Amino acid sequence: MRCPYCQHTDSRVLESRSTEAGQSIRRRRECLMCKHRFTTYERIEFVPITVIKRDGTRESFDRSKLLRGIIRACEKTGLPQERLEILVDEIEAELQQQFGREVTSNEIGELVLQQLRELSEVAYVRFASVYRQFQGIRDFVEALNHLQNHPDNSDHSENSPLSLTEVAEPETATSFMTHSST
Ligand SMILES: [Zn+2]
Repeated sequence: MRCPYCQHTDSRVLESRSTEAGQSIRRRRECLMCKHRFTTYERIEFVPITVIKRDGTRESFDRSKLLRGIIRACEKTGLPQERLEILVDEIEAELQQQFGREVTSNEIGELVLQQLRELSEVAYVRFASVYRQFQGIRDFVEALNHLQNHPDNSDHSENSPLSLTEVAEPETATSFMTHSST
């Protein structure tokens, strides 16, 4: 692995850590030449996933786009970025297992919400507010009720009380800070 600072090709591994889902290994390395430290990830190469969007168009699943959306939703919740990267690993693995090569943007969004609910209620409501395009306070109240009524892992994709509105693409979560609800 080439050092990003001096391009030297030898480094030593200071620490190796498997992520929770066992989908990737994070290694902390130190360059043998310049002693700078950097991090590398070793990750299973997944079969590319195609996302079917609401309008029927298709695009490749974009891991970093999903991560950005989740990071925005988790701002100031105290959750470290490393934890969110693990979350994205878990979601990607889950997508592979459950849906194979094709998945709808709706299924991705629901999966994200399911995972966020366990991590942070604030992040859950933020992500839901953009992803499900809340129209007003009523939707917020329903989301909060939904949290309280479903403290476990029960399925909430089919009979969700939130399915009031059309579903936005998950990537719009990146713009949730500017989203204005009336
Ligand atoms: Zn170096």
